[in-house]
Amino acid sequence: MKTMNTANKYPAVFLDRDGVVNKEVGYITSIEQVEIYDFAIEAINMFHNAGWKVIIITNQSAVARGMLTEAKLYEIHKYFMDCLNVDDIFYCPHYPPIDEEIYPYNIYCNCRKPAPGMIIEAAKKHNIDLKKSYLVGERGSDILTGKNAQVSTVLVKTGYGSDWLDNKIKPDYVFENLKEFALFLFT
Ligand SMILES: [Zn+2]
Repeated sequence: MKTMNTANKYPAVFLDRDGVVNKEVGYITSIEQVEIYDFAIEAINMFHNAGWKVIIITNQSAVARGMLTEAKLYEIHKYFMDCLNVDDIFYCPHYPPIDEEIYPYNIYCNCRKPAPGMIIEAAKKHNIDLKKSYLVGERGSDILTGKNAQVSTVLVKTGYGSDWLDNKIKPDYVFENLKEFALFLFT
């Protein structure tokens, strides 16, 4: 009989992409628009060296909006994987069927943040203990995603996080940027 041994599960940090790992510039549809923060590279190395899983989770409705193909998105995410010590990138290409209809992307799904689908899928694939894990984001929808997945939540003030004023959704922690959070955990 197999039993679940939670002691062997990994802690993880789930990272929003734009505004947390790289500069927020609106819809990214080419590698040329990707400007990865130096402090994110350093922070991610700290998590990696501590034995944590590092997973990017990102809404990519640009696919459903017809601005970006999944093949092109794969190319962009390969660039992120080449530059950063991350274990995986999960993305949601969907958008609810409101305006345009681009098959098969205009659907109600379980992966578009703030739904917890990407975190739950990543936890299964990478043997992650959600009780020991954190989500880091810069918007209310990110923080809500973390709460929906029952992980601890961290707001960083980079990207749109700098606009965070009296939002009704309260993160568990607030830091200037991803590296400040890594320093808090590991020093
Ligand atoms: Zn989705």
